[in-house]
Amino acid sequence: MKMDSIASEMGQMAGTSAAKALFGMAPEELREVAARMGLPKYRATQLGEALYKQRAVSVQEIATLPLEVREGLAAQGYTVGLPEIVQAAKSVDGTERYLVRMTDGETVETVWMPGGDGGERGDGSEAAVEQEGEFGDAEDAVEARTQKQIPPLRYGMTNNLAGMTNNLAGMTNNLAGMTNMGDCGTKDGYKRATICVSSQVGCAVNCQFCLTAKLGMRRNLTAGEIAGQVAAVLNRQRVRIGSGRGVQTPSRINLVFMGMGEPFLNYDAFMHSVHLLRAMGIPESRMTVSTSGILPAILQFANEPVRPKLALSLNASNDAVRERIMPVTRKWSIATLLAAVRSLPLGKREYVTFEYVLLGGINDQPQHAREVLALLAGMKAKVNLIVWNPGPGIDFQQPTPADVAVFHRMLIDGGIPTFTRRPRGRDIYAACGQLKRTTVPEPLVEIATG
Ligand code: SAH
Ligand code: SF4
Repeated sequence: MKMDSIASEMGQMAGTSAAKALFGMAPEELREVAARMGLPKYRATQLGEALYKQRAVSVQEIATLPLEVREGLAAQGYTVGLPEIVQAAKSVDGTERYLVRMTDGETVETVWMPGGDGGERGDGSEAAVEQEGEFGDAEDAVEARTQKQIPPLRYGMTNNLAGMTNNLAGMTNNLAGMTNMGDCGTKDGYKRATICVSSQVGCAVNCQFCLTAKLGMRRNLTAGEIAGQVAAVLNRQRVRIGSGRGVQTPSRINLVFMGMGEPFLNYDAFMHSVHLLRAMGIPESRMTVSTSGILPAILQFANEPVRPKLALSLNASNDAVRERIMPVTRKWSIATLLAAVRSLPLGKREYVTFEYVLLGGINDQPQHAREVLALLAGMKAKVNLIVWNPGPGIDFQQPTPADVAVFHRMLIDGGIPTFTRRPRGRDIYAACGQLKRTTVPEPLVEIATG
């Protein structure tokens, strides 16, 4: 079945694209814009660099373009079209949740987690290697970092962009913007943060434990809107990636496609955004996409030459329980999904992450842990246990700490690297499954935007 028919079957509305937004355009589209305006090709390159490297917020500020070109672009109705942070809440743990408005007024949530949430540990990504380094596996970390090969940048405008992506040491931030990152310095002296990105306005998958599901599905985000959330957050935090200018402390920005929506039901835009984000200097090895298990998209993903790491929201140890909490299981069983995940060609150090939301009394008992071990036997798998985050109108129980500990221990003893995620920003509804835009009655702590 084709992806677009699956999408419409699941109640998706067609994505809308912001009229004449430059941010989001691939190099060839920028060349078309330049050609239509009678400009030489190198102007398209400059435009691309201003959009993705410098993250310009308006055409007027692109100093590399002559004034008449900027005026010409504006006269033709071109804008940068970045989404805008219109509201922000800051958690006691440093996490910031942003309400991000698209040019048509629709909003999604994007989360900034200084120090990350521990979700990357053990998946073989650079983020994981760094964390392991901090947790005592430093030699491995260095070895992995020096061996790391980043494939050529498909969306790279120029060779120096590809070089920038490779130049991890050049990923820098502006310390002035990092006042909230006190908890994420590492012993290697760099700063790390994870950005959690939304892929859709709402979600059609209807997992029973998830607040985003309550929104229903409003629309897909475009690639520019997905990558644009990252640009907006990096601008707000004044993070410089690989610019080499004003270098202070290098930063490590990791991305998780784990915000609102199901990225694999907006597959093309999601994959296009991955290339835009690479052009912004974030290698795909620092990105993880989480899916509830959209089979055809997992198969397509397995064939991508350049792709983020995969996380599958397993969340149950058998189909009966999974159908109850994730109705999408009726369409694709756990066995079918695992077979597809097995087809993913993994890098030497790569693991597939299985997320498992622990719901008290439903999927958190020893027999469930035994079933998970049986399901994952022989796979290069790691498990991220997530203690269910409650939300208004959702009738589940949190697991007891003792049940979490037993579950965790059983998986470890069964040979599966297992991590229990630090819940981030729970007090501001910024934790997993708590993203629901402004409809959540919460005490929003306003902090200055822009
Ligand atoms: N739609 C994708 C990605 C967004 S959800 C997916 O479902 O994988 C990201 C993660 O949050 C998923 O693993 C999901 O199972 C988990 N999640 C959803 N609601 C949650 C909640 N209330 N508490 C804890 N985790 C939750
Ligand atoms: Fe959608 Fe993921 Fe929430 Fe399920 S858990 S409703 S797939 S956002």
